[in-house]
Amino acid sequence: MSITIAIDGPAAAGKGTLARRLAAELGYDYLDTGLIYRAVGMKVVRLRGDPADAGMAEAVAKSLQPADLEAADLRGDQAAQAASKVAAIAAVRAALLAFQRGFAATPPGAAGAVLDGRDIGTVVCPDAPAKLFVTASPETRAMRRLKELQGRGQATDLATVLADMTERDARDSARAVAPLAAAPDAHVLDTSDMDADQAFAAALAFIRSKV
Ligand code: C5P
Repeated sequence: MSITIAIDGPAAAGKGTLARRLAAELGYDYLDTGLIYRAVGMKVVRLRGDPADAGMAEAVAKSLQPADLEAADLRGDQAAQAASKVAAIAAVRAALLAFQRGFAATPPGAAGAVLDGRDIGTVVCPDAPAKLFVTASPETRAMRRLKELQGRGQATDLATVLADMTERDARDSARAVAPLAAAPDAHVLDTSDMDADQAFAAALAFIRSKV
């Protein structure tokens, strides 16, 4: 039986960095589920469609190929916004569910898997033995995201990043299907006053107490 670590939380809470590091420490495989939604959203955009178009987004989700996850433009804010639009469509989520559950149940090369996203602990892997909900204040998250985007050479400013993030969190939290939420049995980790090492230590201590 594979062990699943579920990590959820709002945009730019540091889930990805944390999840990747935890997976390396535990020797587990890692799945960035946000990247899948980003790939669907950007494929719709490249086909000159509207990410809110349910029929088109569903067709793209059903025909998604591993190579689509390698696209160069998936990390920017256009991809984030497109992802959050396709992610609100029930048929898109349904089309992507089996792959995510399959990865968790039989990780390609390991005894366990770390998945990060918005609905891992609530919908994708509700039986995961260790669930973390990683969050931080909006200002902290926006500052971290700004540094990340600037580090990648993208010209932007704090107000734009904060507005973009707030819009995306609102859409992710308000949607009818699998909204962003902490599972009742998730451990909430507020990293506002923590650096990456402190967040990692706290998360690892929690996971070790569970598995
Ligand atoms: O985590 P990331 O910021 O890459 O996710 C991009 C978008 O994909 C999120 O804003 C959310 O709308 C969607 N998403 C989701 N469920 C997941 C992972 C991501 O709805 N499990």
